[in-house]
Amino acid sequence: MAVSCLQLLARDAERDADKKSPLVPGSAAEYATSRLASAGVWTTWLRPTSPPHRDPPVPVDKTVAFLRQAASVNDLTVEQVIERLGEQEICRRARVPRRFVVQAVERLRSPRVSVYEAASATARPGRRVRIEGDPPTRDATVNRAYSALGDTYDFFLRAFGRDSLDGEGLPLVAVVHSGEAYNNAFWDGEQMIYGDGDGEVFQDFTIPMDVTAHELTHGVVQYTANLSFYGQPGALHESICDVFGSLVKQYSLGQTAGEADWLIGAGLFTPRVTGVALRSMKAPGTAYDDDVLGKDPQPATMDDYVRTDRDDGGIHINSGIPNHAFYLVATALGGHAWERAGQIWYDVLTGGELAERALFSDFAKLTMSAARARYGHGEELQAVDKAWEQVGVRML
Ligand SMILES: [Zn+2]
Repeated sequence: MAVSCLQLLARDAERDADKKSPLVPGSAAEYATSRLASAGVWTTWLRPTSPPHRDPPVPVDKTVAFLRQAASVNDLTVEQVIERLGEQEICRRARVPRRFVVQAVERLRSPRVSVYEAASATARPGRRVRIEGDPPTRDATVNRAYSALGDTYDFFLRAFGRDSLDGEGLPLVAVVHSGEAYNNAFWDGEQMIYGDGDGEVFQDFTIPMDVTAHELTHGVVQYTANLSFYGQPGALHESICDVFGSLVKQYSLGQTAGEADWLIGAGLFTPRVTGVALRSMKAPGTAYDDDVLGKDPQPATMDDYVRTDRDDGGIHINSGIPNHAFYLVATALGGHAWERAGQIWYDVLTGGELAERALFSDFAKLTMSAARARYGHGEELQAVDKAWEQVGVRML
């Protein structure tokens, strides 16, 4: 498993502590540092050894996607859409033979989102506590996990017509209350696992919905460009997860680019930590500055690019640069960030030209072509061009 973002923070904290004053045994700082170092902390995406194999979309997938989108856009349930349109009209509009409509309806009757309580101190599912359509439970953690999965699913569907992470309706499962004071939240390739946090440094990991959305976006990347997890391509990968993680939050809150906080993981730290979030896209490097965690190491521009072997070549560090570029595009254009800036980034991610080992400059060039292809020579292209220039990424 890769070194995760907060493991890295813990190591920095230990190193800095060696240099300055040693940690006092039994102090809160020592406790927090050891917890950070021992936990597999920060949201880690477990990678398959080979990219997932996808068959080309079949008519049943197309029909499912059509029905879900129709329901989403019109604020109806899928059942209501089926009832109102009828099978024949669905065949006509989705342009598929009738038998696929029957199969699609069958699939749609299985839940997209379900939440389980961990059986014991393990990550494995125990009791199922809420599935799609159930009313809220009395456990706020269950309800937050349920909403975060649902909001992420809805966002990709409504904003880009993408049916789940794989584009084929992959059901999303969450397991909450995993482990004892467990400091982590991650997608294990099949489900989201959430710890409750230790209450010293971290609160409940279901609190920031963008943490869930970030993790699930790793799934989208895996099924599309499949960017590598090392160096610049790895930093791009992390950045894309932050971009869509933040957009899911903005979408669900109905915020414009000007209203958004552009933070990742706000609300995750306890009040003991001096910091507002794990990362800031608006001002990389300013998310925290804490005795235990050290200072947010993210650069905003290529002038401060960090060359390192740690953190898989700085993937959670240098992601600040493309993060900031996205922030600049989104705020220059104004309005809802997912509508134009997000669309350009999504077009690049899914367009088939983004290589697994793409560098920042490759990505920048592709955002230019995507902006041109979708919006012509307008303010979108200008905003993209200016943003990359501001963060010092040159398109050779
Ligand atoms: Zn990540």
